[in-house]
Amino acid sequence: MGVVNEDPASSGRVPGESGVCSACGLTGDLLPTGNGGSILLERLESELPSHMVPAGYRWLVDGGVASCPQGVEPKPGETCRISHGLVCPEREPPDLWPRLAKRREENRQRMRRMRGLPDEADG
Ligand SMILES: [Zn+2]
Repeated sequence: MGVVNEDPASSGRVPGESGVCSACGLTGDLLPTGNGGSILLERLESELPSHMVPAGYRWLVDGGVASCPQGVEPKPGETCRISHGLVCPEREPPDLWPRLAKRREENRQRMRRMRGLPDEADG
């Protein structure tokens, strides 16, 4: 695998160095993150509407460098990419909607109380 020397601005999809997932062996675009690290981004037909991707998982590529802005609402019409890790078949999916998961767990406890069952231990 080699570095792709292509002007990122000349194509809609920013190419990266081809990288291989250590967990599943599938390939993606390996891009620098700007802090000395790198991220394996999923190869998609087209970028995803940012508002459809949970906050904290929206990867933006600018000038060949990938960043994942935290605590920033996507701009109207903004698109983003996702990390391969998010959709890797060999990894446990992250909790994409922690607030909803918390509410679901609260409802589980409420349901058990309603049915007269003991509370489940956490964990
Ligand atoms: Zn993988």
